[in-house]
Amino acid sequence: MSILTLGRSDVGHCGYCNKNSSAIFGLIAKDLVNDDYMTLMDSGFRRSGDFLYKPNMNQTCCPQFTIRANVINLKPTKDYRKALNRLCRFAEVELPVSKEYKYQKTVDALMKSSKLTITLEPSSFTDEKFSLYALYEQEVHSRETAELRRESFKRFLCDTPFSEPTCYHHVYRLDGRLIAVSVLDVLPNALSAVYFFWHPDMRKLELGKVSTLIESQLTSEMGFTYYYLGYYIPTCPKMQYKAQLKPCELLDPSTNEFKSFEDVDLNPPFDIKDDPHVYDDLLTHGIRIKIFDTEMIYPDVPEFITSLLGNQIRDTALAVGPEIAKTVVFEVPV
Ligand SMILES: [Zn+2]
Repeated sequence: MSILTLGRSDVGHCGYCNKNSSAIFGLIAKDLVNDDYMTLMDSGFRRSGDFLYKPNMNQTCCPQFTIRANVINLKPTKDYRKALNRLCRFAEVELPVSKEYKYQKTVDALMKSSKLTITLEPSSFTDEKFSLYALYEQEVHSRETAELRRESFKRFLCDTPFSEPTCYHHVYRLDGRLIAVSVLDVLPNALSAVYFFWHPDMRKLELGKVSTLIESQLTSEMGFTYYYLGYYIPTCPKMQYKAQLKPCELLDPSTNEFKSFEDVDLNPPFDIKDDPHVYDDLLTHGIRIKIFDTEMIYPDVPEFITSLLGNQIRDTALAVGPEIAKTVVFEVPV
């Protein structure tokens, strides 16, 4: 059973527009069933280590839309195909010849390369991965060395709150040398890309683009339809590559449903309907609260808790949605 802390809204620094106006709702997952995370992802949440957050779409400076590609009908654009072919040539792989182009055949050929190996491994920490991560963050994202600590790398990209094996590293090696790591969550119905870091010497290979095709292929091999690419931020030019992976869908903040990319209005304000019945329904079904290791059903909790935490319980229940609010236990910080 998933155990989540009560969450709260927060406004902080935005890495996309550099203003201090990024508005999110966040909470910590103490224990997370991956099926629950799938449901949370489908209502706009993402995770960073054990921190789960979703943008407050009408308050935040750069609205973030959950984006997923349908891998069954995926048709990569020319840019993607060029990047994939370039990596094949670099990895000394012969490009498959056929009348009808299928990116899957090219990915299959690439996966057989003896020069470039790509393997799916548990998300364990190694010094080698950390060194590559630190180099990537310094050179690609201009981060200070002092900010890059082993502990935070481990917490962010190796450790997970999941109660079952879910997080993996897709490890790229060129002649044995580590050149890239893609952090992936393998969920019950989908593959979700968490983070990707690569060696700055490999910039020309556009590994970010190629990895999305490799992961699309992996998604379909696992029997899934959807490959989740995190958030799409319309105002961020670096994100445009995600929208080029067609067909793709965005989570519409007004209806909380996935729609074809072209059918979602990207401009705030969004017509988000706070249905008061949702909360009434939650209360009659009971929300489980854990305090001092004792589990109680809200609202049958001591008066001081309802007066102190009533609003926070309500906000958290509304943010995670009725399905999750009925399933999980909310831990009250003491
Ligand atoms: Zn912003």
